Amino acid sequence: MDQAFTPQDKLYIGGEWRRGRGAEIASNFPADGSLNAKLAGASQEDVDVAIERAQYAASDPAWRKILPHERATFLYKISEGLARHADRISLVQSRDTGKTLSETRALAMSAAGTFRYMAAALETMEDALTPSRSNYLTMSVFEPLGVTAGITPWNSPIASDAQKVAPALAAGNAVLLKPSSWSPLVCLELARVIEEAGLPKGLFSTLPGAGAIVGERLVTHPAIRKVSFTGGTETGRDIARKAADKLMPVSLELGGKSPTIVFADADLDVACAGVMFGVFSSTGQSCIAGSRLFVERSIYDTFLAKLVAATERLRIGHPFEATTQMAPLIRPKHRDEVEDHVKRAREDGGIILTGGERPAGADYTDGTYYRPTIIAGLANTSRLCREEVFGPVLAVLPFDNEDDLIRQSNDNSYGLACGIYTSDFPKAWRVARAIDTGTVWVNTYKQFSISTPFGGTKESGLGREKGREGIRAWMAQKSIYCDLSQVPHPWAKSAL
Ligand code: NDP
Repeated sequence: MDQAFTPQDKLYIGGEWRRGRGAEIASNFPADGSLNAKLAGASQEDVDVAIERAQYAASDPAWRKILPHERATFLYKISEGLARHADRISLVQSRDTGKTLSETRALAMSAAGTFRYMAAALETMEDALTPSRSNYLTMSVFEPLGVTAGITPWNSPIASDAQKVAPALAAGNAVLLKPSSWSPLVCLELARVIEEAGLPKGLFSTLPGAGAIVGERLVTHPAIRKVSFTGGTETGRDIARKAADKLMPVSLELGGKSPTIVFADADLDVACAGVMFGVFSSTGQSCIAGSRLFVERSIYDTFLAKLVAATERLRIGHPFEATTQMAPLIRPKHRDEVEDHVKRAREDGGIILTGGERPAGADYTDGTYYRPTIIAGLANTSRLCREEVFGPVLAVLPFDNEDDLIRQSNDNSYGLACGIYTSDFPKAWRVARAIDTGTVWVNTYKQFSISTPFGGTKESGLGREKGREGIRAWMAQKSIYCDLSQVPHPWAKSAL
């Protein structure tokens, strides 16, 4: 791979490009298994160096004392840099993750939009003058936490990195980023853009390296004041336990098993396209994948026939082909896990309506491709309906009425997203309010806006990212009382 833009085998630690002292990480291209790059990952010592420099940079008056609109200029520059280098960034991310170029370009532009939004939000954010209950002025102000960390997964790295780094910097913190070992390259592009934008050195480091070493150190180090994590529920639970020990706030964006609901009165073309996009785009490697489909019984057979036929027309192919809708899965190991889920679904009595295997043909032999798969005949309590697959596998179930639907939809440990297809808006509103989840889409799916908060309920997570409040999640609130009377307190006055 052309390495012109990414310094070969160097990490961005405390404002310097240097070789990591941890275990080697290899990035392979999922379309053919070829090696993109090897790099020495970060070690615990590297994390400690990054933290020490971040502490210094975060408390330096050159950063700490600048006004919000001045701090915002760095974020605007980072946004411009991401947009300027979007082609390069998307190429690196497609090589790293196997995603299509069109998707990774959209992710790069979304990261640029996140920095721009957070800069604008920062410039316009107001502290509050709270109603006074006596002769004093009361204020509620927000201040930086200090040194913070973001830990991200492999499925949409540049976008999830930006969702942590942009609000953390906007809030006036230093931030250390640990990306997934499966997609270590694109965070180095982000570091290059941040360096180009002139952010004071030490405020940002990127530390690809083993989760159990680098991630663990970031979570447990006493100087780290907040961790925002996106990843699997079990890792999130472990991080929350360790954070509880040091009473550190965490935000957790975790897994999902999101219901998509098609009522008999829905526009079936809209519903069919939305269901396919919701579960099969990104080859199903999405926390919000609509992976449990509930179809009203009166249209169950008709809708499934339409869905299966359309799914079989989806184009599986190379990430660099403009026509590709489904690119390879990230790694052979991950495809093995997806295949295990399908095997267990079969053992549980699932009927494969389409897919359930690798695509045939010379174009697919070297890459980690898998066909979009639809499985019927399972109970909502089956393993496939309970466990996150993180691949292109859809379980379909019929429902009889609204009560039955809401009960089944909510009977799941996750609560990340939901899609509802109907032409009856009062019904959509009723069901949207009844489903226990963080986001609901009506007659659409997987639409995102940086100005709208995102996060999960139940085992899908804690806290919210995005939106104006997204900056405050990286700040400490302080209340200030200023006495206006200028006289001694009456309680002590007699003793004066
Ligand atoms: P993991 O939980 O395995 O890893 C996520 C990140 O955590 C990686 O950077 C990983 O590093 C790191 N990590 C691993 N162990 C530890 C540890 N002990 N302490 C600190 N950090 C650690 O998830 P995946 O990478 O497999 O990502 C897929 C998961 O992410 C899915 O469950 C998906 O639902 C979820 N996700 C949630 C989203 C949301 O917004 N709700 C969005 C996208 C994904 P390393 O790679 O080195 O192991």
